[in-house]
Amino acid sequence: MSRFVIVGSGAAGIAAIQSIRELDKNSEIVLVMAEKEGYYSRPGLAYYLNKEIPEAQLFPFSKDDFSQMNLKIIFGIVESVLPETKAISFSDGKTIRYDKLLIAVGAKAVRSSISGTDLDGIIYLDMLSTIKIAIKKAKKAKTAVIVGGGITAIELVEGLIAQKVKVHFLLRKDRFWGNVLDSEESQLVENRLKDEGVVIHYQTEIESISGKKGKVFAIRTKTGEEIPCQIVGFAIGVRPRLHIAEKSGIKSERGILVNEFLETNFPDVYAAGDVAEVYDPHIGKHILDSLWDLARSQGKIAGFNMAGKKKKYIKDVPFNVTRLAGLTTTIIGAIGQKGMDTKAEIVRGESETWQEIPDALVSQYKFDSNRIRLMIGENTIVGALIMGDQTLSEALHQIVNQKIDISTIRDKLLQSQVPLGETLANFWKEWRKENAY
Ligand SMILES: Cc1cc2nc3c(=O)[nH]c(=O)nc-3n(C[C@H](O)[C@H](O)[C@H](O)COP(=O)(O)OP(=O)(O)OC[C@H]3O[C@@H](n4cnc5c(N)ncnc54)[C@H](O)[C@@H]3O)c2cc1C
Repeated sequence: MSRFVIVGSGAAGIAAIQSIRELDKNSEIVLVMAEKEGYYSRPGLAYYLNKEIPEAQLFPFSKDDFSQMNLKIIFGIVESVLPETKAISFSDGKTIRYDKLLIAVGAKAVRSSISGTDLDGIIYLDMLSTIKIAIKKAKKAKTAVIVGGGITAIELVEGLIAQKVKVHFLLRKDRFWGNVLDSEESQLVENRLKDEGVVIHYQTEIESISGKKGKVFAIRTKTGEEIPCQIVGFAIGVRPRLHIAEKSGIKSERGILVNEFLETNFPDVYAAGDVAEVYDPHIGKHILDSLWDLARSQGKIAGFNMAGKKKKYIKDVPFNVTRLAGLTTTIIGAIGQKGMDTKAEIVRGESETWQEIPDALVSQYKFDSNRIRLMIGENTIVGALIMGDQTLSEALHQIVNQKIDISTIRDKLLQSQVPLGETLANFWKEWRKENAY
């Protein structure tokens, strides 16, 4: 009987366990957990912070679901892999043996290194335990300063507004999320935040944080402005947790490098989820993602391979449905504005693929806060962003993911003043009929 060891109880780790159990009911599975809370929805943390869901709703599995997986659970922090003895070592010096090992330890929010970040009142949207600290701090705070861009920064801003805290939002550039959104989309989001009372500071960087009695008291910007506050939240990106790989000599660059079967350069050692750097066939590059569904699908494929069913990981077009200042926004494929920057951090809920500027023409439809932006390639749609009305988001997900030939409507989509929605809806209806989909 084999022993499967899974390090990390996140989306990738749990999906791998489900695949292994699908094929192998009896072998031993050891799950190493670093967090006492176990498996919970990380994207759900934002909705817990903004009071939309209670804590219980973060947990998709009951105790029964877990016991059916027939696991041995160990709480601990894994330090390194010892390939000669096929064992892992823990921070307390203990070791356990594996036959097949999965490293699924995710990514960690980048910590700021400016002075004052050790003060009480510094928050990150990272784990359930850090969200609980944020909620506790918010109960006594009047004002918060949020630094960063992308989905997590806005989730912090909105979460704190819901907690009745006045928010200053510091943007390093001249607009919000400029490598993914176009300027009108950024402006739409910014205006909605302003309507909610958020003060946006453009092209502003934080220089230091000052404290009183160990607690955050104010921040100072690089231009000398002082903003009194009790909370400073950072959402400046995430980085794969490479500690185990670096200590063990597992090949990694920005993430752990894996082949199409999600194997690392060590035999019988796999990696999946936010910690892995995987090949994206859609743009022909190794990239990082921080997306729940992709972490789950990588975990699933890694699990099958570990249990002996050879399966290639073929990445789907990255897709996410999120909310930006209350506006439901779906992002699919390559829709970038500035091109992928491998030196910059990605943020949670993001894929580097989105940043890529495709070889495509832009077609747009705007009505109030409802928007569709399509990136139209030679005969396919290579990326789409849908804000507000989501009627077409699932159709567009399929059209982009399956590289459906749209040449019959391409010219029409590229004509201005043509209602994109109607053209796409009719095309999708016909395509489904013809393809019995
Ligand atoms: C606030 C927030 C909002 C998000 N929003 C979205 C969204 O809108 N859409 C979307 O698709 N995705 C979103 N994400 C990202 C998504 O949650 C991640 O892509 C996904 O959770 C990655 O899964 P994973 O299994 O790779 O890692 P994780 O879920 O991070 O799990 C890794 C686990 O490993 C543990 N661990 C770390 N080091 C060790 C060690 N040395 N030993 C043992 N265990 C260890 C960690 O504690 C953790 O429990 C969001 C994430 C956050 C935090």
